[in-house]
Amino acid sequence: MRALSATELLGVWERAFSQSSIQRALALLAAACPESPPDALAGLSIGQRDAHLLALREATFGAEFTALASCPACGAATELTFRASDLQAPPAPAPPAELMLQIEGRDLRVRLPTSADLLAITRPDDLAAARDQLLARCLLSDRNQVPEPVLDAVIAQMALADPLADIQLALRCAGCGHAWQAAFDIVSFFWREVHAWARGLLREVHTLAAAYGWHEADILALSPARRRLYLEMVGG
Ligand SMILES: [Zn+2]
Repeated sequence: MRALSATELLGVWERAFSQSSIQRALALLAAACPESPPDALAGLSIGQRDAHLLALREATFGAEFTALASCPACGAATELTFRASDLQAPPAPAPPAELMLQIEGRDLRVRLPTSADLLAITRPDDLAAARDQLLARCLLSDRNQVPEPVLDAVIAQMALADPLADIQLALRCAGCGHAWQAAFDIVSFFWREVHAWARGLLREVHTLAAAYGWHEADILALSPARRRLYLEMVGG
């Protein structure tokens, strides 16, 4: 996965700024994989999509990730530093497009949820309705024949088959020693970084444009090292 140029990443930020988290994920991947049709990217399982996003984040901002959390026991801020490779060692093979599950003597055919499936959920805030809509799309066997507890097991098995779709970080508070797990969402993590980066970059463009009268495109085409040097020279 190659890093996006400053102009490309700024373009993604601008296009996806007012969009949903799922659309932001797809916009980042579309910019990084221009050879992949949008339908193919939207058809990746969530775990596969997030593996690509982890690789893109590594290529763009470096291999080290720092997650911040508040200790649920004492409230102290806790920091965890890790690498993408810590989350998937060895790199997980892509799960099959369709799975046959055997649950309580039943053979059930399912598909792993994709971004396209999540985008099709009309009421994502209503968890029960969202679960029903996801099952309607991803359970390929006749749902009417499947009792509710088995449907819960289907959801659990789908999650197991696509482990990167639900990354859990093991955190420990340095203050009180409390240990807990927290979900790590690469999309919101990466997007927060992109947003902070874009604001900082546009501030730099403003400073250099005001000082030298350069065009935005020319300033964006500078390498970060050159931009930094010019900024030092104008005291920005
Ligand atoms: Zn604590």
